[in-house]
Amino acid sequence: GAIEEIKSRGYLLVGLSADFPPFEFVDENGNIVGFDVDLAKEIARRLGVELKIVDMTFDGLIPSLLTKKIDVIISGMTITEERKKVVAFSDPYFDAGQVIVVRKDSDFRPKTYEDLVGKTVAVQIGTTGDIEVSKYEGINVVRFDKFTDAFLELKRKRADAVVLDSATARAFVSKNPDIVISSDVLSSEQYGIAVRKEDTDLLEFINGVLRELKKSPYDVLIEKWFSE
Ligand code: GLN
Repeated sequence: GAIEEIKSRGYLLVGLSADFPPFEFVDENGNIVGFDVDLAKEIARRLGVELKIVDMTFDGLIPSLLTKKIDVIISGMTITEERKKVVAFSDPYFDAGQVIVVRKDSDFRPKTYEDLVGKTVAVQIGTTGDIEVSKYEGINVVRFDKFTDAFLELKRKRADAVVLDSATARAFVSKNPDIVISSDVLSSEQYGIAVRKEDTDLLEFINGVLRELKKSPYDVLIEKWFSE
């Protein structure tokens, strides 16, 4: 199975798109860090192998998984029915949703996607934000490989808004005082770790790791004294 192959190779190949703070981003020292990176480290550690991170654009992740360039995707990826047709997802590990971000100096404060009709919206290619705004005929959607470039477009006033996941929006806004979150959270999404459908052993292992990590010391104590 997949685990045997990873163990004999000696390292786990994790694909991500390092433009998505606080899940995966490049820090001041040029290192790729974040919540997903720590999750990846924990999975590799428990497999007893090294971790190799493969940084790429978000829309390259699923093709790379399917062509075996990586073993798993851990990249704030929302579990969707469309994606489930081609990959298998772990149990959810984070709750998220889309928000609209605009320039602080404008008085444009959209609350819904309808408010974006007639406007130019920057997104990252292939994200759930891209998929949602692309459903509206009157929205001019401009697509970028990296979220950092979508935000540049907003700052340069070539886009009126950026649509992206709330936790990442908060991270960008806290580092960029010239932009603000304009809407409430507009969707309810959950992130999952993606593996190839045939790698059922790896999926089971990952779900086991997630279950362990989600357990509090109190849960462990209860389990110790109350399960037979
Ligand atoms: N959660 C969004 C999606 O899955 C965006 C993820 C990302 O850009 N890393 O499409």
